[in-house]
Amino acid sequence: MKLVYLDNAATTKMSKRVIEEMTESFEEIYGNPSSTHTLGQKAKAVVENARHIVAKNLKVEAKEIVFTSGGAEGNNLVIKGFLKQNKDKGKHIITTKIEHSTVLKTFESLEKQGYDVTYIDVTKDGIIDVEKLKKAVRKDTALVSVMFVNNETGVIQPIKEIGEFLKEKEIFFHTDAVQAIGKFEIYPKELRIDALTVSSHKFYGPKGTGFVFIDKKYNIEKEIFGGSQERNRRAGTENVNGILGTGVALEEVYEKMEVIFEHEKKIQEYLEEKLKNEIGRIQKVEINGENSRRVKNITNVFIENTDIQMLLVALDMRGICVSGGSACMSGSLENSYVLEAMGLNDERLKSSFRISIGKDTTIEEIDYFIENLKEII
Ligand SMILES: *Cc1c(COP(=O)(O)O)cnc(C)c1O
Repeated sequence: MKLVYLDNAATTKMSKRVIEEMTESFEEIYGNPSSTHTLGQKAKAVVENARHIVAKNLKVEAKEIVFTSGGAEGNNLVIKGFLKQNKDKGKHIITTKIEHSTVLKTFESLEKQGYDVTYIDVTKDGIIDVEKLKKAVRKDTALVSVMFVNNETGVIQPIKEIGEFLKEKEIFFHTDAVQAIGKFEIYPKELRIDALTVSSHKFYGPKGTGFVFIDKKYNIEKEIFGGSQERNRRAGTENVNGILGTGVALEEVYEKMEVIFEHEKKIQEYLEEKLKNEIGRIQKVEINGENSRRVKNITNVFIENTDIQMLLVALDMRGICVSGGSACMSGSLENSYVLEAMGLNDERLKSSFRISIGKDTTIEEIDYFIENLKEII
């Protein structure tokens, strides 16, 4: 059966270059980076080389990079680790209503521990309300966390504006950049970001690995104790091969960024035109967050009178993989809290889903998808 993968915001297929380099390294690089002998030092060199690649592409220092097991750990490590290390900075923290669950749930747990949390609203276009954020800041605000690109709508958030405002106030600023990395150039120092989370499997790297950038001005307390790896910020023998794959994948997307951008732009325009004109002829179609600046790989679409759960099953039977919203929501019948925060009504919440393309998505695949979507509807 034909297989059409349109769920690249949930995860991506590893690139050929990543698979090749990791396969080779599995055979050869098996030492422990903490061992002082030759094999250990070989493994350490692989880790440090990947750290150098990451630092160079983000224009930060190598010592400001901590390798992690991915986005969930990165978000937890930065947010909780910073607060534990900087208890004197205050009890007020700010985030938004549309964060990934790994940020939202972390804030909820901090709320239970006595932190005062402000959750910033978004407009109907899915952009966080910067004026509200500015007003919410207090003398005892210790940390602000705002995602760079929303994983359900693809809407790009005004990170630079927030960064500049918070820099003046000297408030620690973290961004979950998991959906942003590889989509456009991101230089944390220019954007006045103090910490940033990245996950490798969202840009053609391996799953279960990623990194955080933390500005050298700040210390964090570790979440995992018992070893001094990663400059004493994360215990545990390094995922050497995963880290190698992270470096290769990041280098590759930075090299090919313009080409991938132009390709995805073309595919997205084609897809949205087909949705509006071909599906729109049968049912009312609208793109959620359409008026906002969006990444080119995510389209969140409303199709009137459509039961999304049934639609996804029917598409899957025809070899087409798409998701309701975020991967964490799939399988559940709960509405998307992201679309809800945008003020969409119940009917619209129940009939919206996400199509996420990738660097290898073709026009033919979009045609196949539209054809089948038309039939099913
Ligand atoms: C996927 C994702 C995460 C989680 O990353 P994992 O590596 O899968 O833990 C966090 N934030 C956003 C915005 C994501 O899309």
